[in-house]
Amino acid sequence: MSATDEWVRGGPRETGAEPPGAFTRALAPFAAELAELRPEGAELCDIHTHLGADEDGRSLTLDALLENLDQGGVRRACVFPLHDPDRHPAYRVPNDRVLGWAGESEGRLSPFCRLDPNEDPVAEGERCLAAGAEGIKLHPRAQAFAFDVPEMDAIFGLAEDAQAPLLIHMGRGMPPVADGLCALAERHPGVRLVLAHAAVADQGVITARLRDHPGIFYDTSVWSATDLMELFARTSPDRIAFGSDPPYGRTFAGLYLALRTVRAVGGSPEDAAAVAGGAAAALLARGELPPPRPPLGEKVRPRHGTLQRISGYGMQAFGSLFVERFDLAAEMLELAVAATRDPEPGSDEVAETLARLGESLRASADLMRDPDTGFFGAGLLHLSLTLAGTTA
Ligand SMILES: [Zn+2]
Repeated sequence: MSATDEWVRGGPRETGAEPPGAFTRALAPFAAELAELRPEGAELCDIHTHLGADEDGRSLTLDALLENLDQGGVRRACVFPLHDPDRHPAYRVPNDRVLGWAGESEGRLSPFCRLDPNEDPVAEGERCLAAGAEGIKLHPRAQAFAFDVPEMDAIFGLAEDAQAPLLIHMGRGMPPVADGLCALAERHPGVRLVLAHAAVADQGVITARLRDHPGIFYDTSVWSATDLMELFARTSPDRIAFGSDPPYGRTFAGLYLALRTVRAVGGSPEDAAAVAGGAAAALLARGELPPPRPPLGEKVRPRHGTLQRISGYGMQAFGSLFVERFDLAAEMLELAVAATRDPEPGSDEVAETLARLGESLRASADLMRDPDTGFFGAGLLHLSLTLAGTTA
């Protein structure tokens, strides 16, 4: 299987193959910038990672996850099973595997158990919490459940009593779920939720309706900085926790996105520390939570025209990857590279950003043309989109 096939079907390669030189060279400026963005002295935690195997063909081993965290300079992570073929009954086997791997991680991984509301969820949740699970994960799409069923009240009650964080998939592939979810959260004022993927499945309704609920958190695992900037404009910065969703995302790129966005919305070093690890630490401590603070940034955010064009082409390239059209993605990236050639950038910051984008998007397009290196091109595209989307 080529590396590109693996990216589409199978997630990050685990072959140990050396990344191509063009990728390493293009990555260097992002690594240097990430080192500067990193909040000093803070312990970083990726709140959304997986281990094991998924029915869609993706998988991640303990060693590969720890290496992925190391690449991002992140020590801690919360970890839970994938949509595992061995999940029946009740996710017991994948939950035990994750508990075991976390035990081998020298304190780096906080295990969450995954529950299926249709398969005795409370008994399995109690069993896992007693065995050391520090939180619970629910996936309404994969497990095909709604929020207005009695089992969900029982799961929320269990999490509320244990003060254990309950992380719920709120990304693509779902019908509007806000009404059921919000009613449930309102019936459980003590519950601590982490709504994954910036709750893009219903972000507007959820952030508005649950604004005064003290225990609502969001994670940052999205493709586009636009989704994240809007989240910051709608909720307290200390309720937003960095997450990257490996094997689907990478910790390095996810951390870069989270920290660039904090800076773009005018966040302080304290806000950066809260997002990068403080919010996760507060949840895992299961103690009192500080009251939510006012949101950051403005609802209306002016954008530089050239950067906006680049972002548009970049998102179209990203969409092409989902239908395995790497050739079309490369073509869209040629337009993005062309847009970086602007003799009238308007400011030094934009001029410097355009120069960097010219390099990274060129490398991304070239890597995407070769099936063996397309995976690396996709990684550079995500980083480039973040850079373009968070420069004013
Ligand atoms: Zn996930």
